[in-house]
Amino acid sequence: MKKTCNCPVHGEQGISLVCVHIAHAVDAGEKAGFFWGSTDDLARPDAWCKSCEDKLVAASDDAQDQWFREADFKIFCASCWDVAKQVFGGFA
Ligand SMILES: [Zn+2]
Ligand SMILES: [Zn+2]
Repeated sequence: MKKTCNCPVHGEQGISLVCVHIAHAVDAGEKAGFFWGSTDDLARPDAWCKSCEDKLVAASDDAQDQWFREADFKIFCASCWDVAKQVFGGFA
């Protein structure tokens, strides 16, 4: 898996993954909440929104693969991830 992307805003950056809701909320300027995991194989940990967090908390161990599919993670550049964290963090 390629570990960098060429962001139109930030240029060549390490990659991260965010749930589809955060990806859309960034575009729409909505506050979606911002939660992140502990994986460190990418430039930033995987991140997801408040509604995904609520589903994850409620999900059994068996349901986590399904949760991951429903979150439909998208590739974000590391700097976009930082921006999203600033915008969405503190909510929820
Ligand atoms: Zn989400
Ligand atoms: Zn970027």
